[in-house]
Amino acid sequence: MLRGGEFCWHDSLWREIPDDVARRFTHRLGSLHGIWLPNGELVHAFSRRFPNVTPDEYMEAHVANLERFAREMPVDVLAHPTLLPLTLRRHPLEELWTEEREERAVGALAAAGIAFEISNRYRTHERFVRRARDAGVRLSLGSDGHTAEQVADLAYPLALARSLAVPDEELYDPLRHGSRTGFFNRLRRVS
Ligand SMILES: [Zn+2]
Repeated sequence: MLRGGEFCWHDSLWREIPDDVARRFTHRLGSLHGIWLPNGELVHAFSRRFPNVTPDEYMEAHVANLERFAREMPVDVLAHPTLLPLTLRRHPLEELWTEEREERAVGALAAAGIAFEISNRYRTHERFVRRARDAGVRLSLGSDGHTAEQVADLAYPLALARSLAVPDEELYDPLRHGSRTGFFNRLRRVS
């Protein structure tokens, strides 16, 4: 049985967890549920309040946060890479995520060795997934299930990965590909 955990980038909890506790997770996901604007204001993805910035200004901050997240946070997967604040959800993802922003995002994930989640809950546009694949970023399937029926429902993410000719064995599997928590190092030392 694997034991993963999702931690918020904007929250300080992940920085405070002692190494021996982190090692009890088989793998960890990081997520951008909150984004810091240059003025220090936090924009929460599920808040109805949106700051006095344009969608473009917000997206620039979002990508800058993503780049910092990739440099600083020792996780294995970026959860739901296209989760955006409620206010922006009426805009097409392909427009908010310009190709230049997608390029920066996948470059940061590739450099850090962080996988790109294909989320069943917050569905991304195919171009972004394709770009991640082309940059050598590993893909990870996530149901993000909040109810019993939703948990482990990977039909859509798996179909998308297969439509991009990604072999199933290349999809992120902590048992096969390891993780950054230290969990598997310990097993190796013991055996
Ligand atoms: Zn999340």
